[in-house]
Amino acid sequence: MDCLFCKIINGEIPSFTIYEDEQVKVFLDINPNTNGHCLIVPKKHIVTVEDLEDSLATHILKVEKIIYQKLREKLHIDGLTICQNNDLGQDVKHYHVHLIPRYKDDNWKMQFNQESLKEPEEIFKQITNE
Ligand code: AMP
Ligand code: ZN
Repeated sequence: MDCLFCKIINGEIPSFTIYEDEQVKVFLDINPNTNGHCLIVPKKHIVTVEDLEDSLATHILKVEKIIYQKLREKLHIDGLTICQNNDLGQDVKHYHVHLIPRYKDDNWKMQFNQESLKEPEEIFKQITNE
């Protein structure tokens, strides 16, 4: 399969792998937001969260905690932002979780266009039909 992350998982493309077990590989992002930005990637090729089995999700959560501890010990990070893109914003169509270390001085701001946002009450009605 012509998938970048499958190639990294099977060793065709090199990576800076910091953790690996039978279900996942964790390697440094090639274009990091902060020092230590890494990706948890399941070995099984799945695309979005909708394909993710509960048992694998539970395992990924365990690995998130392991990596958080490792990064705290080794890089002295101040926090960790965990995110995962699906469809829009997902450049690599092989499911992966971003672990982005936070540092007190990292000055990270997420910017969305908020000019035309509706009120939460209106959105609530749309979602719940109330
Ligand atoms: P997303 O936009 O959520 O699909 O994120 C894809 C991520 O993969 C980006 O942060 C890229 O920097 C990262 N990436 C792309 N190619 C590589 C690679 N060869 N090794 C490590 N990370 C990569
Ligand atoms: Zn893949």
